[in-house]
Amino acid sequence: MKIDFTKSSDGLVPVVVQNNNTLQVLMLGYMNQEAFEKTEKEQVVTFFSRSKNRLWTKGESSGNFLHVKDIQIDCDNDTVLIKADPKGPTCHKGDTSCFAEETPKGFLYELEQIIHDRIDNNVESSYTNKLYKRGINKVAQKVGEEAVELVIEAKDDNDELFTNEAADLMYHYIILLKAKGFTLKDIEAVLKSRH
Ligand code: AMP
Ligand code: ZN
Ligand code: ZN
Ligand code: ZN
Repeated sequence: MKIDFTKSSDGLVPVVVQNNNTLQVLMLGYMNQEAFEKTEKEQVVTFFSRSKNRLWTKGESSGNFLHVKDIQIDCDNDTVLIKADPKGPTCHKGDTSCFAEETPKGFLYELEQIIHDRIDNNVESSYTNKLYKRGINKVAQKVGEEAVELVIEAKDDNDELFTNEAADLMYHYIILLKAKGFTLKDIEAVLKSRH
Protein backbone atom coordinates (compact mmCIF):
# COMPACT_ATOMS: atom_id res chain seq x y z
CA MET A 1 0.00 0.00 0.00
CA LYS A 2 1.23 3.41 -0.97
CA ILE A 3 -0.08 6.65 0.52
CA ASP A 4 0.11 9.87 -1.46
CA PHE A 5 1.59 12.30 1.06
CA THR A 6 2.11 14.94 -1.66
CA LYS A 7 -1.56 15.75 -2.20
CA SER A 8 -1.60 18.08 0.74
CA SER A 9 1.09 20.78 0.80
CA ASP A 10 1.89 20.03 4.46
CA GLY A 11 2.53 16.36 3.70
CA LEU A 12 -0.19 15.19 6.07
CA VAL A 13 -3.01 12.73 5.50
CA PRO A 14 -6.11 12.42 7.69
CA VAL A 15 -6.42 9.20 9.66
CA VAL A 16 -9.70 7.87 11.01
CA VAL A 17 -9.35 5.46 13.94
CA GLN A 18 -12.08 2.92 14.66
CA ASN A 19 -12.45 0.45 17.51
CA ASN A 20 -11.60 -2.89 15.89
CA ASN A 21 -14.27 -4.67 17.87
CA THR A 22 -17.25 -2.31 17.90
CA LEU A 23 -16.31 -0.30 14.78
CA GLN A 24 -17.04 2.84 16.79
CA VAL A 25 -15.21 5.83 15.33
CA LEU A 26 -12.76 6.90 18.05
CA MET A 27 -10.90 9.90 16.69
CA LEU A 28 -9.38 11.63 13.71
CA GLY A 29 -5.73 12.60 13.51
CA TYR A 30 -3.06 13.32 10.89
CA MET A 31 0.04 11.45 9.82
CA ASN A 32 3.08 12.36 7.81
CA GLN A 33 5.16 9.61 6.23
CA GLU A 34 7.33 9.22 9.32
CA ALA A 35 4.30 8.86 11.61
CA PHE A 36 2.77 6.29 9.26
CA GLU A 37 5.96 4.24 9.08
CA LYS A 38 6.35 4.30 12.86
CA THR A 39 2.73 3.22 13.26
CA GLU A 40 3.18 0.33 10.82
CA LYS A 41 6.41 -0.77 12.46
CA GLU A 42 5.31 -0.56 16.09
CA GLN A 43 1.62 -1.37 15.56
CA VAL A 44 0.70 1.47 17.90
CA VAL A 45 -0.89 4.61 16.42
CA THR A 46 1.47 7.59 16.09
CA PHE A 47 0.19 10.79 14.56
CA PHE A 48 1.88 13.99 13.52
CA SER A 49 0.40 16.53 15.92
CA ARG A 50 -0.29 19.86 14.25
CA SER A 51 -0.45 21.65 17.61
CA LYS A 52 2.65 19.99 19.10
CA ASN A 53 4.38 20.14 15.68
CA ARG A 54 6.03 16.75 16.27
CA LEU A 55 5.33 13.03 16.16
CA TRP A 56 2.73 12.16 18.75
CA THR A 57 2.12 8.62 19.87
CA LYS A 58 -1.46 8.60 21.09
CA GLY A 59 -1.27 7.54 24.74
CA GLU A 60 2.34 8.65 25.23
CA SER A 61 1.45 10.44 28.48
CA SER A 62 -1.97 8.96 29.35
CA GLY A 63 -1.10 5.34 28.57
CA ASN A 64 -4.24 5.17 26.45
CA PHE A 65 -2.55 3.68 23.40
CA LEU A 66 -4.27 2.57 20.21
CA HIS A 67 -3.02 -0.90 19.25
CA VAL A 68 -3.24 -1.38 15.50
CA LYS A 69 -5.28 -4.30 14.17
CA ASP A 70 -5.81 -3.22 10.56
CA ILE A 71 -4.75 -0.41 8.26
CA GLN A 72 -6.65 0.56 5.11
CA ILE A 73 -5.95 3.26 2.54
CA ASP A 74 -8.90 4.81 0.73
CA CYS A 75 -9.73 4.64 -2.99
CA ASP A 76 -7.47 7.52 -4.02
CA ASN A 77 -4.68 6.93 -1.50
CA ASP A 78 -5.06 10.13 0.49
CA THR A 79 -6.87 8.98 3.65
CA VAL A 80 -6.13 6.22 6.14
CA LEU A 81 -8.54 4.10 8.16
CA ILE A 82 -7.10 2.28 11.16
CA LYS A 83 -8.89 -0.34 13.20
CA ALA A 84 -7.39 -0.43 16.67
CA ASP A 85 -7.77 -1.91 20.13
CA PRO A 86 -7.93 1.11 22.43
CA LYS A 87 -6.30 0.82 25.85
CA GLY A 88 -8.62 3.01 27.90
CA PRO A 89 -10.57 6.04 26.68
CA THR A 90 -9.35 7.58 23.45
CA CYS A 91 -10.52 11.14 24.06
CA HIS A 92 -8.33 13.22 26.37
CA LYS A 93 -11.55 14.38 28.02
CA GLY A 94 -12.03 10.82 29.26
CA ASP A 95 -14.63 9.67 26.75
CA THR A 96 -14.39 6.43 24.79
CA SER A 97 -14.55 8.37 21.54
CA CYS A 98 -13.84 12.00 20.59
CA PHE A 99 -17.26 11.96 18.92
CA ALA A 100 -20.57 11.85 20.75
CA GLU A 101 -21.09 8.63 22.66
CA GLU A 102 -22.70 5.84 20.66
CA THR A 103 -22.72 2.05 20.52
CA PRO A 104 -22.63 1.34 16.79
CA LYS A 105 -22.99 -2.42 17.03
CA GLY A 106 -24.92 -2.58 20.25
CA PHE A 107 -24.22 -3.57 23.80
CA LEU A 108 -23.23 -7.17 22.96
CA TYR A 109 -20.03 -5.92 21.38
CA GLU A 110 -19.41 -3.66 24.34
CA LEU A 111 -19.89 -6.66 26.63
CA GLU A 112 -17.47 -8.66 24.52
CA GLN A 113 -14.93 -5.88 24.95
CA ILE A 114 -15.45 -5.89 28.73
CA ILE A 115 -15.03 -9.69 28.82
CA HIS A 116 -11.82 -9.47 26.77
CA ASP A 117 -10.49 -6.69 29.01
CA ARG A 118 -11.05 -8.79 32.15
CA ILE A 119 -9.18 -11.70 30.58
CA ASP A 120 -6.41 -9.78 28.80
CA ASN A 121 -5.64 -7.76 31.94
CA ASN A 122 -5.89 -10.90 34.12
CA VAL A 123 -8.28 -9.19 36.58
CA GLU A 124 -7.97 -11.43 39.65
CA SER A 125 -11.37 -10.57 41.15
CA SER A 126 -13.25 -11.23 37.91
CA TYR A 127 -15.48 -14.32 37.59
CA THR A 128 -15.02 -14.10 33.83
CA ASN A 129 -11.26 -14.28 34.16
CA LYS A 130 -11.38 -17.08 36.74
CA LEU A 131 -13.62 -19.20 34.55
CA TYR A 132 -11.49 -18.50 31.49
CA LYS A 133 -8.35 -19.60 33.30
CA ARG A 134 -9.93 -22.98 34.07
CA GLY A 135 -9.58 -23.79 30.40
CA ILE A 136 -11.62 -24.45 27.28
CA ASN A 137 -13.21 -27.68 28.54
CA LYS A 138 -14.58 -25.97 31.65
CA VAL A 139 -15.86 -23.00 29.66
CA ALA A 140 -17.47 -25.32 27.12
CA GLN A 141 -19.08 -27.29 29.94
CA LYS A 142 -20.56 -24.06 31.34
CA VAL A 143 -21.99 -23.24 27.90
CA GLY A 144 -23.55 -26.71 27.82
CA GLU A 145 -25.08 -26.24 31.28
CA GLU A 146 -26.50 -22.84 30.41
CA ALA A 147 -27.91 -24.21 27.16
CA VAL A 148 -29.66 -27.00 29.06
CA GLU A 149 -31.01 -24.48 31.60
CA LEU A 150 -32.34 -22.40 28.71
CA VAL A 151 -34.02 -25.44 27.15
CA ILE A 152 -35.66 -26.26 30.50
CA GLU A 153 -36.95 -22.69 30.84
CA ALA A 154 -38.20 -22.76 27.25
CA LYS A 155 -40.68 -25.44 28.32
CA ASP A 156 -42.04 -23.23 31.10
CA ASP A 157 -43.69 -19.89 30.66
CA ASN A 158 -41.67 -17.81 33.08
CA ASP A 159 -40.38 -14.96 30.92
CA GLU A 160 -37.95 -13.72 33.51
CA LEU A 161 -36.25 -17.08 34.01
CA PHE A 162 -36.13 -17.68 30.26
CA THR A 163 -34.54 -14.33 29.42
CA ASN A 164 -32.06 -14.69 32.28
CA GLU A 165 -30.94 -18.12 31.07
CA ALA A 166 -30.71 -16.73 27.53
CA ALA A 167 -28.45 -13.99 28.87
CA ASP A 168 -26.31 -16.51 30.83
CA LEU A 169 -25.84 -18.56 27.65
CA MET A 170 -24.88 -15.51 25.60
CA TYR A 171 -22.35 -14.40 28.21
CA HIS A 172 -20.68 -17.82 28.50
CA TYR A 173 -20.79 -18.26 24.72
CA ILE A 174 -18.71 -15.08 24.28
CA ILE A 175 -16.13 -16.48 26.74
CA LEU A 176 -16.01 -19.76 24.81
CA LEU A 177 -15.45 -17.89 21.55
CA LYS A 178 -12.58 -16.03 23.21
CA ALA A 179 -11.12 -19.29 24.55
CA LYS A 180 -11.15 -20.67 21.00
CA GLY A 181 -9.56 -17.49 19.64
CA PHE A 182 -12.70 -16.10 18.01
CA THR A 183 -14.88 -13.03 18.37
CA LEU A 184 -18.54 -12.26 17.71
CA LYS A 185 -17.35 -10.61 14.51
CA ASP A 186 -15.98 -13.93 13.25
CA ILE A 187 -19.30 -15.66 13.83
CA GLU A 188 -21.11 -12.73 12.27
CA ALA A 189 -18.93 -13.22 9.18
CA VAL A 190 -19.94 -16.90 8.96
CA LEU A 191 -23.62 -15.99 9.27
CA LYS A 192 -23.23 -13.26 6.65
CA SER A 193 -21.46 -15.61 4.24
CA ARG A 194 -24.56 -17.79 4.19
CA HIS A 195 -26.52 -15.03 2.49
P1 AMP B 1 -2.07 11.11 25.25
O1 AMP B 1 -1.53 11.02 23.88
O2 AMP B 1 -3.33 10.30 25.40
O3 AMP B 1 -1.04 10.73 26.26
O4 AMP B 1 -2.45 12.61 25.52
C1 AMP B 1 -1.49 13.63 25.47
C2 AMP B 1 -2.10 14.92 25.02
O5 AMP B 1 -2.52 14.78 23.69
C3 AMP B 1 -3.35 15.36 25.78
O6 AMP B 1 -3.08 16.13 26.86
C4 AMP B 1 -4.07 16.17 24.71
O7 AMP B 1 -3.53 17.45 24.59
C5 AMP B 1 -3.76 15.43 23.46
N1 AMP B 1 -4.76 14.41 23.13
C6 AMP B 1 -4.89 13.18 23.65
N2 AMP B 1 -5.88 12.50 23.09
C7 AMP B 1 -6.41 13.31 22.18
C8 AMP B 1 -7.48 13.18 21.26
N3 AMP B 1 -8.19 12.05 21.18
N4 AMP B 1 -7.78 14.21 20.44
C9 AMP B 1 -7.05 15.33 20.51
N5 AMP B 1 -6.02 15.53 21.36
C10 AMP B 1 -5.71 14.54 22.19
ZN1 ZN C 1 -9.48 9.95 -0.73
ZN1 ZN D 1 -11.17 14.04 22.15
ZN1 ZN E 1 -28.04 -20.09 33.89
